[in-house]
Amino acid sequence: MSKTTAANAAPIPFLARTPEEWGDDAKSFGGRPFHGRQIFRWIHVKGVTNPAEMTDLSAGLREKLAEAGLGDPVTAITSRRSTDGTRKLLVGLRGEVNVETVLIPGVTGARGRLPSPLDAGMTEIDPDVAFDEEGEAEENTTTAPDERIRVSQCISTQVGCAMGCVFCASGVAGLKRHLDAGEIVGQVILGRRHLDADERLSNVVYMGMGEPLNNYDNTARSLRILCHSDGIGLSHRRITVSTSGLIPEILRLGEDFKGNIGLAVSLHAVNDERRSALMPINRKYPIAELMKALRKYPLPRRRRITIEYTLVSGQNDTPAEAKALAKLLAVIPVKINLIPMNPIELSTLGPPPMAGVLQFQKILVEAGYSCFIRRQRGEDVDAACGQLALLGAKPKVKRSLGVVES
Ligand code: SAH
Ligand code: SF4
Repeated sequence: MSKTTAANAAPIPFLARTPEEWGDDAKSFGGRPFHGRQIFRWIHVKGVTNPAEMTDLSAGLREKLAEAGLGDPVTAITSRRSTDGTRKLLVGLRGEVNVETVLIPGVTGARGRLPSPLDAGMTEIDPDVAFDEEGEAEENTTTAPDERIRVSQCISTQVGCAMGCVFCASGVAGLKRHLDAGEIVGQVILGRRHLDADERLSNVVYMGMGEPLNNYDNTARSLRILCHSDGIGLSHRRITVSTSGLIPEILRLGEDFKGNIGLAVSLHAVNDERRSALMPINRKYPIAELMKALRKYPLPRRRRITIEYTLVSGQNDTPAEAKALAKLLAVIPVKINLIPMNPIELSTLGPPPMAGVLQFQKILVEAGYSCFIRRQRGEDVDAACGQLALLGAKPKVKRSLGVVES
């Protein structure tokens, strides 16, 4: 087992190896290249990572795999279920660090529409970036609809985050380490084991802890593995990568996957001064440059970029800012998700009143945008956006702008 990644010469993690790479391993164990596909299918279709259970492999091959240490790089330490069905798994990694992943059941399926506190006819609710309705319609044209409840999984790519956004628990904690591609894929394998019998994994969103494009190689490899047709076989359009706006990597993602991976961009402000105060990365990649990059992203026909805009009271939530946002995005095919900020422990910042959120949305809708208010899921288990925290983490640097000094 001498497989290494070109970038850092580290061995390729088991859960992130392609069938071809497993084929090479199988050969080195005295097996045949086609055994690679069998191993890959055991791991990714059946979720089996214990070689002893790979019953169509020879005893010798199973033994070699066991000796090599094939197994789960991630384990569920705890699983908490919200009253809305959302589940948050605390995922243990080697080195005694943790991340979190969240399973979010959809709003339709065999059990019908799930209730939501916002469903009182108050506002248009986002079917969620997590469930791409456009993609669903296209895919269901040739096959009978699957009645199981669709579940979207939100996964993490780093322990903490280096980007330092002031409203985000991961940013306040700072970056501890990158996840390797096996740990990213491993969250999906683990997540599937926690699905109910009438549920199926439908979408994966890279919106958990960390900045996926700040861990590009591992993110890209995990995308290839999750989409591989011999494995889980997720369609590219059922995956969304969310970024705070790392321009070179946005362009690289566009090129590497021909624009097919869903892109969500966290904007959160309409001018550089305000955006830099909320998101330090803006000093490196300011708004005008980011807009240019989004125009270059090779979007397939009928697809749109999702713009995420976390509404923070007194920071970015005025009607004038809504109007400026409408103007800023005019030349880019987008839909807009407004996220009322979820309070985090280490900050005094918070969301505007719902009336302000609705007013902001109204301006954008009247300007012709598809604009949704992100329905918060799993708040009672701290699984909503930005709340995925490092247990016991303290901020690396003392922060201003509403973060409680400690
Ligand atoms: N690092 C990536 C993806 C993870 S964050 C990114 O920033 O896009 C996923 C989304 O949650 C981002 O839009 C982020 O701005 C938002 N978010 C972070 N903290 C939040 C909070 N406290 N309340 C609401 N949204 C938050
Ligand atoms: Fe990192 Fe995203 Fe949180 Fe910003 S919002 S600190 S980029 S995880």
